[in-house]
Amino acid sequence: MFIDTHLHLDAVEFDADRATVVNAAQHVGVTRFVLPAVEIANCAAVRELSNQHPGCAHAFGIHPLYVNRAEEADIERLRGLLAEGTARAVGEIGLDAYEEETDPAYQDWFFIEQLKLAREFDLPVILHTRRAQDRVLKYLRRHPVRGGIAHAFNGSVQQAQAFIDRGFKLGFGGAMTYAGSTRIRALAASLPLRAIVLESDAPDIPPAWAAQARNEPANVAQFARVLAELRGIDVATVAAETRANAIQALGLPD
Ligand SMILES: [Zn+2]
Repeated sequence: MFIDTHLHLDAVEFDADRATVVNAAQHVGVTRFVLPAVEIANCAAVRELSNQHPGCAHAFGIHPLYVNRAEEADIERLRGLLAEGTARAVGEIGLDAYEEETDPAYQDWFFIEQLKLAREFDLPVILHTRRAQDRVLKYLRRHPVRGGIAHAFNGSVQQAQAFIDRGFKLGFGGAMTYAGSTRIRALAASLPLRAIVLESDAPDIPPAWAAQARNEPANVAQFARVLAELRGIDVATVAAETRANAIQALGLPD
């Protein structure tokens, strides 16, 4: 049994066949899903899908690449949503230094305000850290939270260790399936297994064997096999350990 710790099930790419996608995942043992939001406008949809489909948990947050569409009052709206008590985490939040059209200072402001909310509600966070690991770590030191997941992790060994030391698990998925992703594959092979969780990030980051296709949560079962091969262990161990890690990181029911 696998947990997909990062699935954008509300994405338009799934509008035509959402139930089929979830069933296909469950059929191959991917039975639980964590659905992060990316802006205030999609929180209700994420909550509804989470309630509709078995095995789902959800998070509320404002993604760094969506801050251009956000306004400062959205932090107050997010506080109201978190006060409902349905979200397991604040996410997807963080920083992204790859997309240049988003003002870094504006990203920083939303990230810091959301770290404060995570502290206020004592919730873990689901982090987006693309090309911004050190800046994310800097703000985590100033605003310590109770841990969570650094999703689609693509940093150095030292940065990985810094997240682990702050109580974080690191998310691995489609990127690990590419032979050319040497750094990510080396991390997946060598980090302590207790620090790793599996994720699809579907519909994004499709695996090497379907690089042009829509990614799907069912692929998490294959990602587990790739991880097992990279580490030279059996897939049952990967399943049990990564599942326990996800449950611990987000305080999910066992
Ligand atoms: Zn995401």
